[in-house]
Amino acid sequence: MNRSALVAAYRELIARGLSQGTAGNISVRHGEAMLITPSALPAAAMRAPDIAAMPIAGDGAWRGRARPSSEWRMHRDIYRARPEIAAIVHAHAPYATALAMARRPIPPAHYMVAAFGGGDVPCAPYATFGTAALSAVAVRALAGRTACLLANHGCLALGTDLAEAMWRALELETISKQYLLSLAAGPVLLGEAELAEAQAAFGAYRGGASQAAANRDGATGSKPAAAAPTRSRHRSSAR
Ligand SMILES: [Zn+2]
Repeated sequence: MNRSALVAAYRELIARGLSQGTAGNISVRHGEAMLITPSALPAAAMRAPDIAAMPIAGDGAWRGRARPSSEWRMHRDIYRARPEIAAIVHAHAPYATALAMARRPIPPAHYMVAAFGGGDVPCAPYATFGTAALSAVAVRALAGRTACLLANHGCLALGTDLAEAMWRALELETISKQYLLSLAAGPVLLGEAELAEAQAAFGAYRGGASQAAANRDGATGSKPAAAAPTRSRHRSSAR
């Protein structure tokens, strides 16, 4: 992975209004390490050498000229828990964050909820930014999902590559805006069968964007997600 691609993605995050100032951070898996955007550096000033490398198995030690984002722990722990994930976008996107401030998960009020791997986009409980506690609640909320809200903070979107994580971050902000608007009229939620059909169709359309669909299809898929440990399958069947 090219460090310039990460800088370009961060600039896009700001340009599209998904984050403001120096908020938000992006990382990609890079072999046994992750590459992550720096702390407190505005997009315009960010250059490729400012992207630090941090071993995923490590304790936060990093290589580079700029200090990694204060949310490195959350990124690292998600990579540890989710071997199929190769890119993570964390943002304080206005609409997703508005829902997170209300600690309100996104229900299946639109079929696009299937883009995030399940029947809803959960909201992780509140924990202070940068802490192991935040990392733990985020990993838990993301079980079986590729996005979640972080209470009174922001949101997370995951992908099997950077383009997918960025696409998902934008879709999350879009569905957040639509859901917030629909609350004025009172949204009608999709039923289980409708949702399952949307998930199956969506999985086929996106080719693995829906982790739930991939799991349901069994172990014949070529995506790494299909080889997920049986533990996660138990977890999803227990839900
Ligand atoms: Zn944040």
